[in-house]
Amino acid sequence: MRFAIVHSKLLPDKLLHSPEKTYPISSIDHIPVQQTNSSYSYNIELQQQLAGKQLLLDDLVIPLEEIQEHYENGCLIYRKGISIEKNKPICNRCGNKNKHFFAHFPCARCGEQCLYCRKCIMMGRISACTPLISWTGPPAQIDINRSQLSWNGSLSEGQQAASERVVQAINENKELLIWAVCGAGKTEVLFQGIDAALTAGKRVCLATPRTDVVLELTPRLKSVFPNIQVASLYGGSEDRHLNASLTITTTHQLLRFYQAFDTVILDEVDAFPYSVEESLQYAVHQARKQSSSMIYLTATPNEKWQTECLQGKKDFATIPARYHRHPLPMPHFQWCGNWEKGLKKNRLPPTIVQWVKKRLDSNKQCLLFIPKIDKMEKILPLIRSLHPKIEAVHAEDPNRKEKVIAMRNKEIPVLLTTTILERGVTFPNIDVAVLGAEDRIFTESALVQIAGRVGRSAQFPSGEITFFHYGKTNAMIRAKNQILKMNEEARKKGLIDY
Ligand SMILES: [Zn+2]
Ligand SMILES: [Zn+2]
Repeated sequence: MRFAIVHSKLLPDKLLHSPEKTYPISSIDHIPVQQTNSSYSYNIELQQQLAGKQLLLDDLVIPLEEIQEHYENGCLIYRKGISIEKNKPICNRCGNKNKHFFAHFPCARCGEQCLYCRKCIMMGRISACTPLISWTGPPAQIDINRSQLSWNGSLSEGQQAASERVVQAINENKELLIWAVCGAGKTEVLFQGIDAALTAGKRVCLATPRTDVVLELTPRLKSVFPNIQVASLYGGSEDRHLNASLTITTTHQLLRFYQAFDTVILDEVDAFPYSVEESLQYAVHQARKQSSSMIYLTATPNEKWQTECLQGKKDFATIPARYHRHPLPMPHFQWCGNWEKGLKKNRLPPTIVQWVKKRLDSNKQCLLFIPKIDKMEKILPLIRSLHPKIEAVHAEDPNRKEKVIAMRNKEIPVLLTTTILERGVTFPNIDVAVLGAEDRIFTESALVQIAGRVGRSAQFPSGEITFFHYGKTNAMIRAKNQILKMNEEARKKGLIDY
């Protein structure tokens, strides 16, 4: 679309009554902002859709004339979808500055060769002539001022201490990292804080990199906050236009938000793709109000964050023990020789065969992590000679869900897996091993997560975790140390009984 500037107002070319010089929005140096007209009767539906968002015209079903009228009455702003700074383009929705992710196309809307961002194209195309639209009129009403929490559970000592820190950070609009071991029960730690925020009339966002986690958290939070509206956002969800007090979302969907939330809680900050995608980190930043609190949750902060915590540069609270007060199982390192070479001759390392046999004999289920799919496909027929019901699963496996359910129902004795099952799954009574723990894919955080699959249930709080390797790596050593330190801290604080 092209705009003209008429009487210090931006005017879309389609609404011009006389010929004027028009430009794509990114070529206009200064975009005039209008004073909010307090007596203007704005469209409540538009307010609901737009408050705290940054949307494209295509996202809105309201006629352009009406949108323009809201702009002229100071209820919304047009921002440039793409700005040019020092001759370099920046996508204002996803923060992309990398020129490889920009391209040109012949654009029917502005009639020029128009530059667009490829990085966030799946959310609708942003190009040099695209305005990003945000609400600047009266804030959308969220009327909550009484306690909403309906939860009868109790927190462990470690959870309670962390929960109090969360409440404090939310009340004081601060940042806090909750470093909670796998199986600590970190979701419950958020309840008091979310309640405090809602009671103060704040808008809360709980974001996570993975859709699975959104689907799992939504019913849980709806049941503990039964009186409020909860929006659940992921690719293809129905709640896109809900202006809810509590929004549970993938980090991806945050690309549509703009200065929306007073409190953002980011779960699994170390998980893919958030950990490697700058655009998602930008999205989280954009979604926060200027004065807001930010809670990060993780079992496995990366090395940089760990250092910042230890140097006192980052405010953090640990939950070093699981809620069932048993220590975390310590990984055991076992050298297994050049297993890849052996595989070429259709041979498995004898230590692995022994390890699996022992579990089959004693009827104990186990997970065996393999670094790559092709290796896993090679191993499966070999290991199946020990038991015909052994299965394998990876990210693109169409039967992934069914296999996880079968594992849970104890129909599968041994499940081979890639890192896809490193987090988010709980099988009550299992041993876990990694074959090829030296592979680069097994980072410190991946290994801590994998070890964290063992001994999660109160009924079966122990189990074995073995890293079979062909040469120890730093990641392996750091993972073991991290687990060791958490157990030490938990003992010191009296959070472990066994
Ligand atoms: Zn264009
Ligand atoms: Zn973009």
